[in-house]
Amino acid sequence: MLILLVEDHRLLAETLIDFLESEGIECDYAATGNAGLELSRQNRYDAIVLDVGLPGKSGLDVCRAIRATDNSDIPILMLTARDQLDDKIGGFDAGADDYLIKPFEQRELVARLRAVTKRHRGNLVQTTIVVGDLSLDLSCHQVTRQGVVLKLSPVGFKLLHLLARESPAVVTRAALLDALWGDDLPDTDALRSHLYNLRRAVDAPFDQPMIETVKGVGVKLIPAQVTPH
Ligand code: CA
Repeated sequence: MLILLVEDHRLLAETLIDFLESEGIECDYAATGNAGLELSRQNRYDAIVLDVGLPGKSGLDVCRAIRATDNSDIPILMLTARDQLDDKIGGFDAGADDYLIKPFEQRELVARLRAVTKRHRGNLVQTTIVVGDLSLDLSCHQVTRQGVVLKLSPVGFKLLHLLARESPAVVTRAALLDALWGDDLPDTDALRSHLYNLRRAVDAPFDQPMIETVKGVGVKLIPAQVTPH
């Protein structure tokens, strides 16, 4: 883990850096808001620990500025003095993820840092699934194979998504029916015809089929063998 510490109190900063590094957390350090902003733009940090009371640009201003940039979802943990406690509200308005009131236990800081970074990683939802030369972009519902965009119906996309997520494992017929229609089962041939259409889109135009029926069990999506050039 690499973090950025923005804190004008040098002695406190040094103590924190020593402790964090002993916990395996690497630190970059800035003593002013502007220097902190600059570093946050130049590097990719797992989190930023930001003092509220900084000379010049305050921690709240820095927080707002970071949130306004491309790097806007980075976890930010604010440090605030007890008499700045009102700032804690301001801190959340400015976009902080968490805060600690000075003085605090160093171990508490480490625990909070681990929590915000873990939460952050959990929020980074996987948006693309790749199986061999097939790629599903979940955010824009687009499927490509060998770079060619495939035309799928909404049900076809759902079906392929399920198969790709489990690939190369077999997805049972029952699981497919359940995921597609739940209790509102259409007539029994619906799955068969959707699979037929899916094969036409995903397999027919290419040399190697990917959708494989496992008789009496279900269907699986297998990555096509890459032919060496
Ligand atoms: Ca300060």
